[in-house]
Amino acid sequence: MADTTFLSWPFFTDRHRALAEGIERWCATKLPVGRADVDAACRELVQQLGCDGWLNHTAPDPQQLSPLDVRTLCLIREILARHDGLADFAFAMQGLGAGPVSLFGSAEQRHWLRRSRSGQAIAAFALTEEQSGSDVANIAMTARRDGDAYILDGEKTWISNGGIADIYVVFARTGEASGAKGLSAFLVPGATAGLSVVERIEVIAPHPLARLRFDRVRVPGSAVVGAAGEGFKIAMATLDIFRATVGAAALGLARRALDEAGARARKRQLFGGPLADLQLVQGYIADMAVDIDAAALLVYRAAWAKDSGALRVTREASMAKLFATERAQAVIDKAVQLHGGDGVRRGHIVERLYREIRALRIYEGASEVQKVVIARQVLSGA
Ligand SMILES: Cc1cc2nc3c(=O)[nH]c(=O)nc-3n(C[C@H](O)[C@H](O)[C@H](O)COP(=O)(O)OP(=O)(O)OC[C@H]3O[C@@H](n4cnc5c(N)ncnc54)[C@H](O)[C@@H]3O)c2cc1C
Repeated sequence: MADTTFLSWPFFTDRHRALAEGIERWCATKLPVGRADVDAACRELVQQLGCDGWLNHTAPDPQQLSPLDVRTLCLIREILARHDGLADFAFAMQGLGAGPVSLFGSAEQRHWLRRSRSGQAIAAFALTEEQSGSDVANIAMTARRDGDAYILDGEKTWISNGGIADIYVVFARTGEASGAKGLSAFLVPGATAGLSVVERIEVIAPHPLARLRFDRVRVPGSAVVGAAGEGFKIAMATLDIFRATVGAAALGLARRALDEAGARARKRQLFGGPLADLQLVQGYIADMAVDIDAAALLVYRAAWAKDSGALRVTREASMAKLFATERAQAVIDKAVQLHGGDGVRRGHIVERLYREIRALRIYEGASEVQKVVIARQVLSGA
């Protein structure tokens, strides 16, 4: 049974505690869904999460426009990830994909939020290109003005939900200035002519992922999210919110690993007693528990700071993502070790966790990028 004592920390209100119980119950009854076809599994998860109201937390109600509650996003991601990494992925992408519209969208664009919140539309966030992963400002995709419209040309790669998304937020170069200041964000429906999947990318923890081609994709001027030239700012503001939630997902995977390791250590008999009686094993368990609590403190500190009105939480969000993902990898590795041969048996829960954690140290800013961000903030006194 996972440790839930952190819910009594002062970062949370009774509303958060009730929500944590609710999503826990939901996971126990609705997960896992069949995974034979990963696209179908993701569609089903989005539909179920939407139907049962959980996706309402991924974007504001278009009528009321209340801000996103980051502690809620983190709690849901942590608990979903502890039960099923794919369910966490489906939930998270609805938030990240809709994020630029939630934060900067026009009244017309916000109609999409109704559909992403209900699970009727699958969302995607299309920033990365072949030569601009970590180097975001190096985006080459162009969006050329043509009367009242824009014409998008180029490729995006590593796009989660690529191929199954109904709506993409796409970042392209509009050239108001050089580098980061010449980018804009566009809302592009998946069915737009000229948008196609050129490659499905298979990864060690499968989810829908694709390289997309934009071949003279025409969108109206009203598809620009926020103002032209503000794409970089929009992408970074969106990541400021969702980076802490990646840390929360890592935390959920790590908590599951500790639960599994603890159960195994109590049950497995070695040298005339349970594995848990060996002091080196106790050392592992202690290290795992400390890493988890420290990660939780950083994740929920970042979420609380954002919810408490801090305009930017760049430093806190980067610290949360860096520490929680890196330490979750170490926690899960120890859980694999304590399972012996079973730890690397295909299909075993800790083997799955070992595959699921890896990409979190790379996407939404690799760990090295987080360190650069943190150092810059510290050195500038931010
Ligand atoms: C599973 C998965 C899902 C993804 N989903 C999406 C998505 O939905 N939308 C989207 O737009 N993108 C997505 N991405 C892309 C992801 O954001 C990029 O992979 C990531 O930003 C790294 O870019 P890159 O792969 O080009 O690696 P590179 O930029 O080539 O970096 C390679 C490595 O270099 C090191 N490095 C980079 N910068 C520095 C630095 N400043 N100092 C020191 N070392 C450094 C890091 O170790 C890094 O991992 C996804 C990626 C994965 C793996």
